[in-house]
Amino acid sequence: MPLTKDQQLQYIAHLVGECQKCDLYKTAINHVPGSGNPNAEIVFIGEAPGAEEDKQGLPFVGNSGKLLDKLLNTISVPRSDVFICNILKHRPPENRDPLPVEIKVCTPYLKAQLKIIKPKLIITLGRFAMNYFFPEESISKVHGQVRKIIWQELSLTIIPVYHPSAGLRNGAMLKSLQNDFLSIGKLLSA
Ligand code: URA
Repeated sequence: MPLTKDQQLQYIAHLVGECQKCDLYKTAINHVPGSGNPNAEIVFIGEAPGAEEDKQGLPFVGNSGKLLDKLLNTISVPRSDVFICNILKHRPPENRDPLPVEIKVCTPYLKAQLKIIKPKLIITLGRFAMNYFFPEESISKVHGQVRKIIWQELSLTIIPVYHPSAGLRNGAMLKSLQNDFLSIGKLLSA
């Protein structure tokens, strides 16, 4: 019998738990492979776990996660329907930006997760997740745009939005995030 999506994702999570391809595992408490519905049609991709995520081993459970939950509420999408993960699967010390080498060695896990889930829609949160798919773009220019690409033989629809932590720091970015979620809601109900 072929493995279910859930079993395949659990295997990736196990590999992440054993990963020593960069130094982040040394300072992290937990690995944070991602969590959610293995049959999700929508995948959210953030940057990297923060302090609370590191403690719990779960993505977006701190303040940014609370804002993400509110934004999901506004479009009537239950968190249990979606899959949420990050570019990096271990917390960078002091929440510093991911290093290029960390992104390089860590993103094969993300790639594997996306190939298992095959989501209809990917929402990237912040510039690091956006740049993974669109290395030349800037988040201020492309946020809210619906982009269709063929990536790794998957046909993907991607909507980049600002990172919730930017929305927590800056009122204009919060407005922008809320507007982009409104458009996402309209797209989903069309
Ligand atoms: N910020 C992220 O990018 N990811 C998380 O999981 C939490 C905060």
